[in-house]
Amino acid sequence: MDMILIMLGAPGTGKGTVAGILSKELGIVSVSSGDIFRKAISEKTELGKEVEGYLAKGALVPDELTIRVIEARLLEPDLENGVILDGFPRTTHQAEELEKFLSENGKSVTKVINLVTPEEEIVERIVNRRICSNQNCKTVFNMKLNPPKVTGVCDECGGELIQRKDDTEEVIKSRLNTYYTETAPIEKFYEEKGLLYSTQISQRVNRLAPEVAKDVVELLK
Ligand code: ADP
Ligand code: ZN
Repeated sequence: MDMILIMLGAPGTGKGTVAGILSKELGIVSVSSGDIFRKAISEKTELGKEVEGYLAKGALVPDELTIRVIEARLLEPDLENGVILDGFPRTTHQAEELEKFLSENGKSVTKVINLVTPEEEIVERIVNRRICSNQNCKTVFNMKLNPPKVTGVCDECGGELIQRKDDTEEVIKSRLNTYYTETAPIEKFYEEKGLLYSTQISQRVNRLAPEVAKDVVELLK
C-alpha cells in the first residue's frame, strides 16, 4: 500500500516528533524539508548556499526550488512504500504542484495531519528545544518539559544536543508569521478534499506526540 501522509502545523507544534513515531509504527520513511535544507547548509553545497539566507530569516525558500528538491527526493527508491512529509507542502502552490506530481505518478495523498497548539506554548517550546545532532536519531528534547538525563547529551544515542540557529525568539516570530500568512491557507485546500485531520497537541490538555500518533494510526486503519 502506498501511504502518503502530510504533517501540517505551525513551527514547534511537534511535526517532527509525531512524524518520527509514525515512521516507526507504520514502517514508512519520514522526509523533512527543513532537514534537507539544514543538511545542505552544513555541507556547504550549492543548494545550501542558495537557501541559507531564507532559513536564517525564518522566510520560506522559493517555491520552485523547494518543489524541485522535494520531487527529486520523492523519486528515490526508499519511498516506494510511502512517505511522511514533514514541512512540505508549505504554500498552496506547493500543494497544487504536489497533487500534480503525485497524480502523474499514479499516487495521491492519504491524509493530512494538522497539529494545533496555542501560540504562547509554541514559543516556549521552541526556545527550550534541543535536538540530537545525530542525523539517524534527531530526538527532540525540551529543557523544561522533557530534559535529557545528562545536559547536552542525547538519552537515546549519546549524541550531542544542539539548538537550531533559527530557534531564537526573534526568528520564531517571523516563522510564525510566515506560517499564518503562507502556510495556514493550505488547511482549506486539503479540507475541501476531505483529507484534513486537525488535532490538538498541547501540554495544557496533556495531549502530546505519542497520543496524537496513536490516534493517527487508529484513524488510518
Ligand atoms: P519549522 O516547522 O520548525 O519552522 P522546518 O525544519 O520545517 O521548521 O523548516 C525550517 C526552515 O526551512 C523554514 O523556516 C524555511 O526557511 C525552510 N523550509 C522548510 N520547508 C519548506 C518548504 N516546504 N517551503 C519553503 N521553505 C521551507
Ligand atoms: Zn540521539
